[in-house]
Amino acid sequence: MSDAKILYPFDAVPAGGEAVEVAPGVFWLRMPLPFKLNHINLWMLEDGDGWTIVDTGINTPEVRENWETLLAGPMGAKPIKRMIVTHFHPDHVGLAGWFEEKFDIALWMTIGEWGMARNLKLETTERSTDYLNQFYHRAGFDKALMNIIPERSVSYPSRITVPPAGIRRIVNEEKITIGNHDWEVIVGTGHSPEHACLYCADLNVMISGDQILPRISPNISIWPQEPDADPLTQFLDSLELFDHLPRDVLVLPSHDWPFRGLHYRLNQLACHHDERLEETYNLCEKPVTALQVLRGLFTRELDSHQVFFAIGESLAHLHYLVAQGRLIREDGMDGVTMFRQKP
Ligand SMILES: [Zn+2]
Repeated sequence: MSDAKILYPFDAVPAGGEAVEVAPGVFWLRMPLPFKLNHINLWMLEDGDGWTIVDTGINTPEVRENWETLLAGPMGAKPIKRMIVTHFHPDHVGLAGWFEEKFDIALWMTIGEWGMARNLKLETTERSTDYLNQFYHRAGFDKALMNIIPERSVSYPSRITVPPAGIRRIVNEEKITIGNHDWEVIVGTGHSPEHACLYCADLNVMISGDQILPRISPNISIWPQEPDADPLTQFLDSLELFDHLPRDVLVLPSHDWPFRGLHYRLNQLACHHDERLEETYNLCEKPVTALQVLRGLFTRELDSHQVFFAIGESLAHLHYLVAQGRLIREDGMDGVTMFRQKP
């Protein structure tokens, strides 16, 4: 069977300011990111006499220039009529405010994702710094790591324009007509609160955002805003939402390349987390902090940016095991949380 592995049907990656047609009326764009993960894929869908864009790119001059180039070329012969954003992360929602201002178009987004973007962009209270400090202290951060927190807390707002003050809300199972086709909204959780994927049965194509990626395991993390969350249970439950799709569906992810082999990938992701969960469990023979678990799970050298992702991921695995009744979590008098195996 062809779904026994992952196939990448396209070799030619679009350069910045270019577009590659991957299905009739569906165009793949690639924009730069200032991280180790150095790109994001965005999509333009033919929508009658205009375009619907899916995701916008991060807010940097380079990405705005790429959009200008693209729209000054053949893609600009028709106007952008609408933007759909999959979730609140800055590489996806970054330029929503810029597009609104430039083209006076509506943002279609789930209410939870829009709320997160607005909340984090407009957050100004000092109380939020207390949340960050408390959260990372609980996780066992030492002084050197605690000193980096102020840099982290300002990074999100600088990477996005102010999201529109209102949206056209989209919901799970809603059908959105774009041009000649209906696209069904599939709302996944775990990576972000209400992540929208879009599936078109006519074209046999799904835009998966960051919910399903072909090579990288989507980041499933606990963040200071919701310190007791259990996103890994949500993410693993969400994998089932895609089971019923055709085995040869073309998946358009936000990173790496369009691919076929969705069901193989769903299974791989579930197995990957099973393995990580066992490793996490084994690291908790004696009471340990989340930071100690991180050091056991991530044996390679992590830069400071990566440590913040890794601590969130370690906590996600720990909280899953607590929810399953396999680990016990104890909040110490010193404000540090310890995890250990349930006897
Ligand atoms: Zn994301």
